[in-house]
Amino acid sequence: MTKAKTILIVEDETDILHLIEWHLRAEAFSILTAQNGIKGLELAMTQLPDLIILDLMLPGMDGLEICKALKRNPKTENIPVVMLTAKGEEVDRIVGLELGADDYIVKPFSPRELTLRVRAILRRFEAEKPEETKITYKDLLIDLDSYRVWIEKNEITLTVTEFKLLVELIQNKGRVRTRDQLLDRVWGYQFDGYARTVDTHIRRLRQKLGEEYADAVETVRGIGYRCKE
Ligand code: CA
Repeated sequence: MTKAKTILIVEDETDILHLIEWHLRAEAFSILTAQNGIKGLELAMTQLPDLIILDLMLPGMDGLEICKALKRNPKTENIPVVMLTAKGEEVDRIVGLELGADDYIVKPFSPRELTLRVRAILRRFEAEKPEETKITYKDLLIDLDSYRVWIEKNEITLTVTEFKLLVELIQNKGRVRTRDQLLDRVWGYQFDGYARTVDTHIRRLRQKLGEEYADAVETVRGIGYRCKE
């Protein structure tokens, strides 16, 4: 099960705060609350919630100032902000690039609408998250950006082909990769007679990985290779 997403609600009107809190808790979100701007910003910075529901008019520091502060800080700039506004407030400015709110809802709103909006934004941000550039396997650390590999902090030098083979096997650990699949994924093509190439590179890869990890790359006779889970 994935960890519950945390939502920070910053709203000075107690009734509205409780209404939102109640509905989002019912949806299994984990909730943080603040009733003034300064406390809200402090919670955002220290707790790094997954999403912030931010009232525009707040005592202490208003929603726009908080939003600007969040979007200026690299730690919090990627947290989606949903602004709550009263009718007649300047919606255009709120969602403008300058202020950086990701969405807004005009009061009075239905809690159901708010919940749907929150889910949609979380989904959108999830999809936009940059792909993981580092993968680990036991004590192996692999940096996909720089093509570097370490075993317990000691770097080992692999050729690009060996590197790609290792990544392909680890990313599919527990599953057999046929020689054709490996040729296709690592070399980008496959044709008869080149299956032996895979064996040669696997042999060199095992030598470089050393005893412990050489065994992690299993030969599946007549088929291909598999990285142990
Ligand atoms: Ca208010």
